[in-house]
Amino acid sequence: MRYRQIIRWLREENPEALEQLWRSADAVRAEHVGHAVHFRGLIEFSNICRRHCTYCGLRSPNRNLRRYRLTHEQIMAAVFRTVEAGCGTVVLQSGEDEQSAPRAWVTELIHRIKEQTPLAVTLSLGERTPEDLAAWRRAGADRYLLKFETSIPRLYAHIHPSRPGQGHDRIALVGILKSLGYQVGSGVMVGIPGQTIESLARDLMLFAGMDLDMIALGPYLPNPETPLGAEAERIARRTNDQAPATALMTWKMIALARLMCPRANIPASTALATLDPEHGRDLALQRGANVIMPNMTDPAYRPDYAIYPGKACLQEDPHTYVQRLKQHIVSLGRTVGVGRGDAHPSSRHATLTAGA
Ligand code: SAH
Repeated sequence: MRYRQIIRWLREENPEALEQLWRSADAVRAEHVGHAVHFRGLIEFSNICRRHCTYCGLRSPNRNLRRYRLTHEQIMAAVFRTVEAGCGTVVLQSGEDEQSAPRAWVTELIHRIKEQTPLAVTLSLGERTPEDLAAWRRAGADRYLLKFETSIPRLYAHIHPSRPGQGHDRIALVGILKSLGYQVGSGVMVGIPGQTIESLARDLMLFAGMDLDMIALGPYLPNPETPLGAEAERIARRTNDQAPATALMTWKMIALARLMCPRANIPASTALATLDPEHGRDLALQRGANVIMPNMTDPAYRPDYAIYPGKACLQEDPHTYVQRLKQHIVSLGRTVGVGRGDAHPSSRHATLTAGA
């Protein structure tokens, strides 16, 4: 899809015209990744973070957070809940901190999961060294999720200050992850204060250029415990062409990402379910998404993983919740994915294999 056409869809407000976008995205989803909705069990194993990201409640200067890191035993209990609930993948997510989650500690955890379960393992631990990432891949980790948050360097530098003496190029890191053989997911937040509609079009073009296996898109939700959250409205008001942090804009991004990257796995994100509890997730699934990430973290720790306020489904018992979700998926005319739900090889890979 051309840049101008993307922009036109991102600016389209007429519900009747938008029906065409929703229908095309749903048809492309059905054709390329089928009717299955894949479940990934999310385990938020630590909220300890040394970064200062201005959007995220886990940022290290936030003192209003009880910090925790689960033990291997606690994480394995959540991993077994994930298996029992019938998910094919576990996603291990945390703040970014190499002291509380050192390379060897994570490696050992991956070994345990791989020895004791059939699960695919997705890591989402932020920016770690190529040596760490290579060791975890060798240990059997299958996928890595690292959102680049925005493709606009100035905005990125503002919201995601680099660590002293270190680069902060997440887009380059995505390339390293691919070369290590991970299935790689990335994505952006939608409606960051200072983010324009045009910049969202660039983000979409970059997704297509990066040939991602997974694309995660969620609305930016202002967190009052963060510097950006405190000044969100003021910045958004003085930005020309500010992208709205709405469910509608997020659905448009999901639909366009589906059209531009037909075989990618695209989750209906928790942030979207938080912003619009009634329709957020269902309409995402009907407008291009094919993945759900139910939270498997022990409910006792969930309030402390406060990246943004009011996170959906905070207190739900994981097992009951997943069973309910599965029935709901079937009522939407979809099926529950079986197995790991690996990324479909991209069309580029398919062509290479066919020609080989
Ligand atoms: N430390 C890891 C995991 C962070 S949390 C990392 O940085 O990759 C996972 C995602 O939550 C982030 O990539 C970001 O897109 C999202 N997030 C953080 N703060 C948010 C906010 N205020 N609103 C919406 N999404 C947010």
